[in-house]
Order: sequence, then C-alpha cells, then structure tokens
Amino acid sequence: MKYCKFCLQPDTRPNTFFSVDGVCPACTYFSATKHVDWQERFEILQDLLAQHPRRKGQYHDCIIGVSGGKDSTRQALFLRDKLGVNPLLVTLSYPPEQVTERGVENLSNLINLGFDVVVSAPAPQTWRTLKQEGFRQFTNSFRSTEMALFASVPQIAIKYGIKLIMWGENPGLQLGDMKTLGRNGYDGNSLRYMNTLSSGLDWMLKCGFTKSELTPYVYPGVEEFEKHNLQIVYLGWFLGDWSLVNNAEYSCTSGLQIRTDGVEKTGDLYGVTALDEDFTPINQLIKGGFKYEVQR
Ligand SMILES: [Zn+2]
Repeated sequence: MKYCKFCLQPDTRPNTFFSVDGVCPACTYFSATKHVDWQERFEILQDLLAQHPRRKGQYHDCIIGVSGGKDSTRQALFLRDKLGVNPLLVTLSYPPEQVTERGVENLSNLINLGFDVVVSAPAPQTWRTLKQEGFRQFTNSFRSTEMALFASVPQIAIKYGIKLIMWGENPGLQLGDMKTLGRNGYDGNSLRYMNTLSSGLDWMLKCGFTKSELTPYVYPGVEEFEKHNLQIVYLGWFLGDWSLVNNAEYSCTSGLQIRTDGVEKTGDLYGVTALDEDFTPINQLIKGGFKYEVQR
C-alpha cells in the first residue's frame, strides 16, 4: 500500500489511480484549482439553473440530498442566499438507535432556517438486518445504508417531478473515485458507478428480502434518469473555498452543532464529520485496517 506524496490517502481506495509521481487525484485536483476562474464557474452555474426552470405550479427549483451536516447546510444556504434558488431538502433518516441527538438538532436547524425538508425513512427491521449482514459478509455495515442514502434523492426527485439534483462533493475529483467522473467537472450522472453503489442488490436478496422490501435501496436506472430528465450537479465544483473546514465554518455561524467528543475517539481533528451518527468513524477505522491486512 502506498500513501499519496502530499496527504494520507492510500492507493487502496477503490477506483483510484495515483499519478506517476505518487500524487492522489484529490491533491492533483486541489493544486489545479489555483488556476480556476471561479467567476466563470459561477456563471456556468447560473446558466445551468436557467436551463432547468421550475415547472408550472411547482414550488421548488431543485433537490439537495442533506444529512444536516456541514456540507448540506452550506449548500442549502449558498443556493438560497447567493442564487435565489428554492431547494427542497431530502434526507434519509437513520433509525432512532443510530441517529445522534446532534444529528436531529442539525436537521431541525435547517428547518428553522426556513427550508422545506422531506424525510425518507426505510423500515427499521430491514435496515438493521442488512446492516448486520453487510458487516458479517463484507466487514462493512454501510454497504446497504449508503445505497439507501444515495437512492433516496433521485427517487424523491422523480416523485416530486424535480429535474435538478444538487450533490456536494465530486467523488472523482475531490475524493478520487475516478469511475464517477462525468462529461465535465459538475456532471454527477455517473455517480451510479461509484464503488459504494456498484455492489448491487443480489446480496440483499440472498438475505431473504423481496425486491419490494428493498425499494429504498434501489438507485434509479439510466433509463429512469433519461425518462425524467434528471441531472445531478456537483455543487462543490463551483465553490473555490469548498473544504471540510470552510463548510463547517460557514455552517456553524448558521447554527450547526459540531462534535465535542475529541480526536482520540473519532480520528477527526476538527470534529466536523459524520455529525449525525457514530458508526462512521468506526467504519473508517475498520476499512483502513482491513485493507492493510489484505495488502500485506
Ligand atoms: Zn493526496
């Protein structure tokens, strides 16, 4: 296993490719952003919004998938306050055993800031069994839940007849999952090819669930995207100061609550990630350890 020359990203990340000099895609992208014309990108975003006008009788211009954390709070505020857009926020709720009090507060904060929020809540029993099975079979309890998380947003976009979906980070450029790269830096319609979403439903069906019980875990197909004219846009591509710390700073001034449990417990220096549940830090630690074992 190799680490990036500039950061702690290992080359065992699925679908990642380091440069010949040993630099990860995220660092390559970050150094290229120094030469970007951000005003030009802002205008591209304005054009995109103009190309997707609100349908007659509709109240929202686009959908944002939110957890209530730093990225979603920043995106919602940016779209509404800088661009005059009215977004519908969609969140996938964790079962009561999983969600943190802080996560609930942060979602309430978005509602208090004046946003409309739609909550999708998959059946807790199915959720629990799949989480357990994902851990047992793949050492990854997020195998199923991340599918539900990503699927909920286009599913609700289709139900509400909204075509434009805003997503935060471009996982190809900003994280290094190169299979998700689209036609250009903001096109997110290739999100379906990301490692998390490519594992399919078969293993869940083998757990004994029917297709209809797994509906919340099914990411809409290419045909459905075309039929409903869905366009996912990575908003992070348009923001020159998009970063973990900056997003948290913007959001904290608007009421976001961050972690106080300390870096020793989470590995998070700033206490700003995975605010809505505590399994993520554990999963990250397991992931690193497991990959390391395999590589050795
Ligand atoms: Zn790097």
